[in-house]
Amino acid sequence: MPMIPVAQLYVRDVPLLRPPGQADMLQVLWCPYDHEPFATPATTLFWRCAAAVGDVLAVPPQPYEVNRDGYVPEPCHLAPEAITEYPHSLELGPEMRLMVGDRVDDRDADYPEQFYDGNLANAPGWKVGGWPPWGRTDPAPRHCSVCEVQMVPLLTIATFEWDYGTRGWAPYEDEADAYAAGHRADQNPAQPTKVEVGSGDSMQLYVCPTSPEHPHADRIQ
Ligand SMILES: [Zn+2]
Ligand SMILES: [Zn+2]
Repeated sequence: MPMIPVAQLYVRDVPLLRPPGQADMLQVLWCPYDHEPFATPATTLFWRCAAAVGDVLAVPPQPYEVNRDGYVPEPCHLAPEAITEYPHSLELGPEMRLMVGDRVDDRDADYPEQFYDGNLANAPGWKVGGWPPWGRTDPAPRHCSVCEVQMVPLLTIATFEWDYGTRGWAPYEDEADAYAAGHRADQNPAQPTKVEVGSGDSMQLYVCPTSPEHPHADRIQ
């Protein structure tokens, strides 16, 4: 199976990760072909101890064939940042929705939920943890196939770090690019990884909070 590396995260950088045993690193790989049922790459998770990793290849192996260019990530260094986000407006109860409507600035009062979802709720881009980005579907919790506990988001693999409606989330150092009128072809500052899943969507990986041995799940959102 020609797996290729997608993400490598250290617990020291992302304390939100909950590794099993002595592991201190998460590696996410995927098979860069469209798989049933939703025509997505098949992901695999490896929890490892960084100290136990011996020889490291200088260059990741290149697949000899992929279904789409967007399945081969451009190597990137991460600069993880801790942020607070909130559930999508579809997950809020009626009282909470009213509160959001009251609290959102006058100028956005016509569409308070849209403003809330784009600027305060789900942060766009690659992230660990956080809330599911509903909207394409209504909220539908995912349950572990082994123990039936509700699964929690582990990692979001995003096509875009931000878009027009969410560029307020762009990192400070990318702000000028995020608000610029355009960009060079194939140089979208919101797509540093050059990954594309679905049609400019995100793939969110879910894990069972009870046991890392239980199979993970993914969903295009
Ligand atoms: Zn495959
Ligand atoms: Zn489970």
